[in-house]
Amino acid sequence: CKASLNTDHTSHGKHDLSVHGLSEMVVGVLGGGQLGRMLCQAASQMAIKVMVLDPSENCPASALAYHHMVGSFDDSSTVEEFAKRCGVLTVEIEHVDAETLERLEKQGVDCQPKASTIRIIQDKYLQKVHFSQNDIPLPKFMQINDLEGAKKAANLFGYPLMIKSKRLAYDGRGNAVARSEEELSSAISALGGFSHGLYVEKWAPFVKELAVIVARGRDNSIVCYPVVETIHRENICHIVKAPADVPWKIRTLATDVAYKAVSSLQGAGVFAVELFLTGDGQVLLNEVAPRPHNSGHHTIESCYTSQFEQHLRAVVGLPLGDPSMKTPSAIMYNLLGEEEGEPGFILAHQLIARALGISGATAHWYDKPEMRKQRKMGHITIVGPSMGVVEARLKSMLNEEGSDKL
Ligand code: ATP
Ligand code: MG
Ligand code: MG
Repeated sequence: CKASLNTDHTSHGKHDLSVHGLSEMVVGVLGGGQLGRMLCQAASQMAIKVMVLDPSENCPASALAYHHMVGSFDDSSTVEEFAKRCGVLTVEIEHVDAETLERLEKQGVDCQPKASTIRIIQDKYLQKVHFSQNDIPLPKFMQINDLEGAKKAANLFGYPLMIKSKRLAYDGRGNAVARSEEELSSAISALGGFSHGLYVEKWAPFVKELAVIVARGRDNSIVCYPVVETIHRENICHIVKAPADVPWKIRTLATDVAYKAVSSLQGAGVFAVELFLTGDGQVLLNEVAPRPHNSGHHTIESCYTSQFEQHLRAVVGLPLGDPSMKTPSAIMYNLLGEEEGEPGFILAHQLIARALGISGATAHWYDKPEMRKQRKMGHITIVGPSMGVVEARLKSMLNEEGSDKL
């Protein structure tokens, strides 16, 4: 621990800056991955102290946090102990123990966003039920409990059929596609069977995937970032283009859907709304994350207020910042692990070295202790005067690696 911590129980919920001053503010973050790390970076410029709770001793946020408590964000007594030391509690991952957060809230712990929001979002099926009850457009969905149920759902929704785990999903790891009835049981087994809870979604015939970061302050003020296009490869976010190249009408519709979705949830912070744009101009909600998100990394260089600064402003109770872009165009390129171990590190570092020779490019390295295939190891953002110029800069950065990466 680098300084004395506020262990006063009665400080929970005190976010009145006039009383405490910004330098007293300790934000506790459940999770110490790259999002936690980038929150620490933003906090250091704002006289906010970030404490993280993460089981891994050398997690990405560890080196930059005011304090890193080594422990599980899934363990009730650990979270309770951690919460005692923070003025406000927030998350960089939704797979935390929501029941504990609900109990702590009742004891006066200040959770932002609210535990009810985490509970709804961490179960993707519950999330879908919530949003459909709030009239948010989304692909049709249905819970499945056995193979017969899956067949019935497929008869209604057709193939390909998207089968999803209700919980603990990220980077497409809880998704499996069945292209025909024969593939149903293997897709279900690939997700570990029915014991952990599955549901199905009707295939969304999207022409583009879009995303909107929405921030809500403690006073319920809401601001929306520009709509971006996200390009996934094997279910993992690969490239983000800001702003999205879509007609004004679609930008407005996407922003409206995102605004409405976030308005139906409780608490302060930034939220990422993932959307599908269909060929006939519909915008459907895919899912919401109650935290900063990969689709908002470009904001560090391209917007007046980064999503990380905005999240801290929101949870602490500062005024929200301007979400608009200060550069005409930006592209974010994820550095995904290509090889296990040392060869993977060498490839990533070569790409970073090339990025540093490109005008408008900024590299971000998450300092993860281990390199694994398809793991998010860092990202590069390129800004510029137009999407054409930024795309050309990305191409030249990737050139020696082959243009198949675009
Ligand atoms: P994340 O890392 O964003 O949390 P996740 O594991 O929760 O991902 P989803 O967002 O549900 O996974 O899906 C991952 C990707 O799979 C989507 O971005 C989209 O490309 C595709 N996908 C998801 N649902 C559907 C659907 N109903 N129809 C077609 N494609 C879909
Ligand atoms: Mg998800
Ligand atoms: Mg997703």
